Amino acid sequence: MSQKLAYHGGDKTIPDPLPTFRNRSGRQIGEEEKEALIEVVESGSLAYICGTKVGEFEMEFAALVGTQHAVSTSSGTAAIHTAIIYLNPEPGDEIIVSPITDIGGVTPILSQLAIPVFVDIDPYDQNMDPAKIEASITSRTRAIIVTHIYGAPADMDPIMEIANRHSLFVIEDCAQAHQTHYKGRTVGSIGHMGCFSFQQSKHITTGDGGMVVSDRDEQFGRKLRECMDKGWPREGGSRDHLFLAPNYHMTELQAAVGLVQLKKLGEAVRLRRESASILDNRLSTVSEVRALKWHPGCVETRFCYVFTLNHNKLAVTGQEFAAALAAEGVDCFNGYPGNVPIYKYPVIKDHKTFGSSGWPFTLVESHGSINYEEEICPEAEKACRDSVVIWWNEGLTAEHANLIADAIDKVIANYRR
Ligand SMILES: *Cc1c(COP(=O)(O)O)cnc(C)c1O
Repeated sequence: MSQKLAYHGGDKTIPDPLPTFRNRSGRQIGEEEKEALIEVVESGSLAYICGTKVGEFEMEFAALVGTQHAVSTSSGTAAIHTAIIYLNPEPGDEIIVSPITDIGGVTPILSQLAIPVFVDIDPYDQNMDPAKIEASITSRTRAIIVTHIYGAPADMDPIMEIANRHSLFVIEDCAQAHQTHYKGRTVGSIGHMGCFSFQQSKHITTGDGGMVVSDRDEQFGRKLRECMDKGWPREGGSRDHLFLAPNYHMTELQAAVGLVQLKKLGEAVRLRRESASILDNRLSTVSEVRALKWHPGCVETRFCYVFTLNHNKLAVTGQEFAAALAAEGVDCFNGYPGNVPIYKYPVIKDHKTFGSSGWPFTLVESHGSINYEEEICPEAEKACRDSVVIWWNEGLTAEHANLIADAIDKVIANYRR
C-alpha cells in the first residue's frame, strides 16, 4: 500500500520549508555583503562611471573564467543583448538557439531584429544537439547561442567545429553554469563570447546583474563596452555616440556584492554538487524516473536537478507528478522553461514584438509563415512534458536530499503502473 499523497490530503513528506534561493536560507549572503554595501554608500559613488567596484568585479570575473576581458551589465538578458549588439547582425539575420532556455536567452535576438532559429535538444542532457545544427544553417545564419542548461555543459567540441567551418559566432549562455567545466575548460571561455547572470536564483547573486566575457573586445567595427554604454567611447573624456545601444550599466552596489559573492562561488558549487550527488545515488536504483546526465570528463554545477518520467512504469503526466511532488514540500515544477518549449510563448508564437509589424519574423517570408503551434522541436516538446525540475541551492544538505528522494519515492509509489 502506498501512503496517501499530500496532493490528495495526506501528510507532507517534508513539513518544514526546505532552504530556498528566494531568501537567506538557501543563499550565502550576510555580514560581508552588508559591509561592502556600506562602504559604497559612504563613498557616495554609486554609479560605475564614478566608482571602482565594477572595474574590480570585471577583472576578477574575467580572471576566474579565464578570458582577457569582462564587461558587466544590469542582467543576464542585458549581457546576451550586449553580445548581439556587438555582433551587429543585419535585420532578418538568423541566430540559432535552443528551445530549452530562459526567455532572456532569446528575446535579445528579437530586440536586435534578428530571428531565432530553434535547434532541437539531445534528451540525454537537454542541451542543444550538435548533430541537428547543420541542417538549420542558411546564408542568413550569423551565430549560435549555446545554453549550458541546468549547469551541465553542452557538447562544445562539435559545436565549435561546425561554427568554425561556417564562420559563425558562438555565444555561450552560462547563466546557469557558473564554474561548469567542459573537458578541463571553464564554460564561457570556449566560444567567442560568454554571458553570465547574477539574478537571485543563479549560483551567485547581485539581485540582478550580468557579465559578458571574451578574449576580443573589439570586432565588427565596435567595442564591446560601447554596446552596453549608449554607443559611447568615453576614452579621453569625449562625448560621442557611435551607434544604437542601450544603457545596461551595473551599479557599484551590485558590484560590491558581486566581489564578495565571487569569493563564495567555489563553496556554493561544491555544496550544490555534494547534495545533488546524494539524490543521484538514490535515483540510480529507481527505474521509474531517469535523472539527467552530463558528458564524461565534464564538471556540472547543479543549477537545477532534473529527471524525466518513464511512462512504461508510471501512469501520470509530468504536470501531475510535479504538482504532487510540490505538495510533498519540494520546490519543483514541470518542464523548463515550462511545460512547453520557449517558442510556444506569445512573444514568439504570436509575434508580439513591435506594434503590429510582426518584426523581425515578417522581415523574411519563410519565417513569417512558421507555425510555432507545431512540434518543431519534438525532443524539446517531450522533455518539457516529461521533466520534473527541482530548484537547487547551496543550503540543501545530505539530509534534505534524502528527504527529497523520499518524497519522489512516495509519489512514484502512488502512480506506478
Ligand atoms: C537566467 C537566465 C537568463 C537571463 O538572465 P537574467 O539575469 O534573468 O536576465 C538567460 N539565459 C538563461 C539560460 C538563464 O537561466
